[in-house]
Amino acid sequence: MPKKLTIAVVGIGLIGGSLLKTLRTQNFHLIGISRSESTIKKAEKLNIADEYSTDLSLLSKADIVFICTPISKIISMIDQIKNIISPDCIVTDVGSLKGFVLDYVNNSQVKVNYIGGHPMAGTEYQGVDYAVDNLFIGAKWILTPSRFADQTSVDKLSDILKITGADIIFAEPEAHDKAVALISHFPLLLSQALFTLVNNYPDNSIKTLALRLASSGFRDTTRLAATNPELAKDMLLDNRHNVQDVAKHLQIVLNSMIYDLNCNENSFIDHIKDISSDRRKLYSSDGKNIY
Ligand code: NAP
Repeated sequence: MPKKLTIAVVGIGLIGGSLLKTLRTQNFHLIGISRSESTIKKAEKLNIADEYSTDLSLLSKADIVFICTPISKIISMIDQIKNIISPDCIVTDVGSLKGFVLDYVNNSQVKVNYIGGHPMAGTEYQGVDYAVDNLFIGAKWILTPSRFADQTSVDKLSDILKITGADIIFAEPEAHDKAVALISHFPLLLSQALFTLVNNYPDNSIKTLALRLASSGFRDTTRLAATNPELAKDMLLDNRHNVQDVAKHLQIVLNSMIYDLNCNENSFIDHIKDISSDRRKLYSSDGKNIY
């Protein structure tokens, strides 16, 4: 009988916990590693792995390691584990930025069989308590192989990710970081700015009334403002150049729409009809990206 694949997840939070829950239905040997004893206890209670530890030495038996820590810890984690894992162990991550990790690995003298990863799925919550087993169904999962990763490893990782229900997309790390600035990181900033605008509105009586009236539209457009602050900080600070670039483009779009609203009513109405129709085509009725 072929040996069971041993998959380790480092960082049992929202994403790492969801990955373990998802993979638990398959015939893998699962290792869950996290920083705090309290998270390990929660994971044990949820029975989402076969072995648990706060000690990275368990990774010596892993065939695949998923680094699911905050973005700011990914490089130091690669450094810590590279002398523990076996030479052909596949190392991947789920971090929301890819360029700086790939630069680091590709310029390193020590070979790590690293394939960058980023699932386009998540919530504004944090921690294993919010982990679910269906988070990745229908989600896009970007892969950015390093110069050390061979095709066999890429295929092996892709086969495992397909089990989660994700749709795999290959991208260059720089293109990934620019694209996510457009559809994830800048929308986060916009959502925070919109919430700040209302919450700090100078006319207190209007502000109070607005907050009392705020219903589903405001809830949906400011959902990202509630993003876990550590994740929000990492995404916005580490991708600030791309985020600023998007802000400049938005200014142009906004100025043009406000001009049309004031001076070009027919063009404005045609434009918002097109926006409504194109936006409807992007997602299925159950909210999945069908582009
Ligand atoms: P999270 O719920 O806060 O989980 C992070 C986990 O990392 C925690 O379990 C924490 O462990 C662990 N951790 C932190 N520092 C560690 C260290 N030095 N060593 C070992 N474990 C450590 O965050 P998350 O939302 O899952 O995000 C994790 C990654 O997923 C990030 O890189 C993020 O960019 C990416 N991501 C997030 C989303 C999203 O919507 N949330 C979507 C796509 C990708 P303890 O609990 O033991 O302290």
